Amino acid sequence: MLLKDKVALVTGANRGIGYAVSAKLASEGCYVYAGTRSVDTFPTEVEGAQCRVAPVELDVTNKDTIRNCILKIKDEKTKVDILVNNAGIIDIGRLEMIREDTIRRIYETNVYGTIITTQMVMKLLKKSTCPNIINISSVLCDNGAIGQTVYAGSKAAVANMTKTWAKEYTPLGFRVNAVAPGNISSDMFNSRIDSKGLKDALDKTGMARLGKPEEVADAVLFLASDMSSYISGEILHVDGGLVS
Ligand code: NDP
Repeated sequence: MLLKDKVALVTGANRGIGYAVSAKLASEGCYVYAGTRSVDTFPTEVEGAQCRVAPVELDVTNKDTIRNCILKIKDEKTKVDILVNNAGIIDIGRLEMIREDTIRRIYETNVYGTIITTQMVMKLLKKSTCPNIINISSVLCDNGAIGQTVYAGSKAAVANMTKTWAKEYTPLGFRVNAVAPGNISSDMFNSRIDSKGLKDALDKTGMARLGKPEEVADAVLFLASDMSSYISGEILHVDGGLVS
């Protein structure tokens, strides 16, 4: 059990990578608060979880839900050891085609949501003896890509703030890292890709396959556990050897 007696909060946990991360952390003995906008539809039994996965209402763009989530965790567990900022949305469009409301929506979730959630969870992280923040960025944070002005920019912000927070908080006993996934088979990827896009993606991927949410979860587990005890400020790419 790599995470015995630890308490985690994962945002965007009801499907895709967030769900896989929740199940993975719980399977290593962690008590996981699975932040979701739809508690009622969250699966009651999480596969492979040895410890509890408790769904909790959390919309990272809504401070009231963040506040209520924090009060619940404070009452029940008093601390958060691991915060995984996973909630994210995407939209694609070349510069001149992007609508203003799309820019606002993506930055509100991916950037504002990540900052505000972390700010508000900080008090509970400070109750931990080994507080750990893991942000989910994207391989697009490095180089951008055609049609990705907004999304890649938002994920570059997430990568950059990871490095800033590592500088600010590692001296206080925190570890702060990010995972940068490549092409992962989740609703986000599968619902947007046509057969040509899929072929292009696979051609650029050394392993010539999509990643699984569970493979991103393995990287999160590594960063959440003492296996990475001397790592802070790192952006860990999980991309099957993607060439951008
Ligand atoms: P999905 O679209 O499958 O899942 C996204 C999750 O985020 C859902 O649970 C969704 O909740 C949640 N979410 C969206 N907006 C909010 C919000 N305002 N508050 C709380 N939760 C919210 O995507 P993935 O699992 O693939 O993506 C997870 C993360 O990984 C994202 O940050 C994404 O940018 C990143 N990523 C994904 C890649 C991929 O190829 N799949 C590649 C690189 C990075 P709901 O069900 O309510 O909509």
